[in-house]
Amino acid sequence: MNKATERILEKPSFSRDDLIALLEAEGEAKKKLFTLSQSVKAENVGKKVYFRGLIEYSNACSKNCFYCGIRSANRRYQRYRMTDQEVMEAADFAFESHYGSIVIQAGEQSGKMYVNKIASLLRNIHQRTGGKLHVTLSLGEQTEETYRRWFEAGAHRYLLRIEESDPVLYEKLHPANQRHSYQKRLEALHLLRKTGYQVGTGVMIGLPFQTTAHLANDLLFFRDLDIDMAGMGPYIEHQDTPLYQYRDQLLPLKTRFDLSLKMVALLRIMMKDINIAATTAMQTIDPQGREKALLAGANVIMPNITPVKYREDYLLYENKPCLDEEAAECRTCLEARISMAGDTVAYGEWGDSAHYAKR
Ligand code: SAH
Ligand code: SF4
Repeated sequence: MNKATERILEKPSFSRDDLIALLEAEGEAKKKLFTLSQSVKAENVGKKVYFRGLIEYSNACSKNCFYCGIRSANRRYQRYRMTDQEVMEAADFAFESHYGSIVIQAGEQSGKMYVNKIASLLRNIHQRTGGKLHVTLSLGEQTEETYRRWFEAGAHRYLLRIEESDPVLYEKLHPANQRHSYQKRLEALHLLRKTGYQVGTGVMIGLPFQTTAHLANDLLFFRDLDIDMAGMGPYIEHQDTPLYQYRDQLLPLKTRFDLSLKMVALLRIMMKDINIAATTAMQTIDPQGREKALLAGANVIMPNITPVKYREDYLLYENKPCLDEEAAECRTCLEARISMAGDTVAYGEWGDSAHYAKR
């Protein structure tokens, strides 16, 4: 059985059943999977790691996803929005530290004033840095018009996780209404591509009701969508959410972590030149989680540069790390960790996905 799984690794492309077998691989087959993903990474994206300074701009959210700690129905957190000055200070920190880019992330909000506000922040950042600091947005589903406005104001990339590519499972994870429609989320991904963004998506791994067959389909979904970037990580339960009731049915944290590493490795083998993030959720389960993800095939890290005073209020899941670590400390500790994983930080480079450039 194990030998048969090892032989799958020699195939030029993987079927759904191949992916299921590899996601369930243990022992020698699992080791070989990681050896292969490491060599694919070395050959195609090299040893450089790109930093994206993560700005958790606001925890206000109009949605109510069943897994997320900052869902609108949760009254525990004080809702905040960073001031323009705080955003500029964070962007300046990233620019002066020679990070190639930043990510502005928030709960999902809309409305004319909000759209204008983001556009004006983008223009300001562009002006201050002479267009040298690239910006990724992760602000949820928006209209085509909004995506276009933000693109024209200077955003280059957009992260919108499909969360789970199977429509039936997606529905179990979200309230049944138009605001949480699978079809709309999928359409948003197509609109982003049409507008010209480098498009990133991803899923949570180890969700209630999710099987390795779902995860295999998620990988095929990424390939078929021809994505430029991926951000995937383990699902981590949050006590103020409806999905918390299924906590006894979940895979153990360690297994969710291992599956996440396998997902990174498999995606690296399948999509050799895309950017793959080593996500914070991986570090939440294992203190060296991000370094392990780099070894498995990831090449992007998103150090948190949100002002510390807001971090306790941006708890998408429990036990989020680095809540009291200022951006500068975070940077020093990360550099050391990355060199332990055998990679080096590419300062002063945008680190656009080579995949996007080729298209
Ligand atoms: N509101 C935007 C961006 C912020 S949420 C959006 O939803 O697209 C960013 C990501 O956090 C989500 O895409 C989701 O994958 C992740 N997330 C939310 N709750 C989580 C949980 N309990 N465990 C792990 N990741 C979670
Ligand atoms: Fe809001 Fe995003 Fe959390 Fe859903 S995942 S509740 S859209 S912040």
